[in-house]
Amino acid sequence: MVKLEEKQYESLLKEDLACFHCNHVSKNMPQLKQHIEEEWNKLAERERTRADRKRKLEERKDRKKTEELAEGEEQEEEEVLAKKAKIDED
Ligand SMILES: [Zn+2]
Repeated sequence: MVKLEEKQYESLLKEDLACFHCNHVSKNMPQLKQHIEEEWNKLAERERTRADRKRKLEERKDRKKTEELAEGEEQEEEEVLAKKAKIDED
């Protein structure tokens, strides 16, 4: 059994109820909980936006890569056809 020393925790109980994130001080526990919940939602929203932006960027990069690849293949095909035509001429 852990023995709690009143002297040790009493000072903690007397401290302000501050938010772990921005040190916003709340008057009581429900208010602190409410504040932390809002803080958490904001963080989650920011993360979601960032992930979304990153995904869109990756998609754009992928699309560009695919287009470049298709262009390269087309060029190769033309070269092959040109060579073939030359052989036919000979
Ligand atoms: Zn906060």
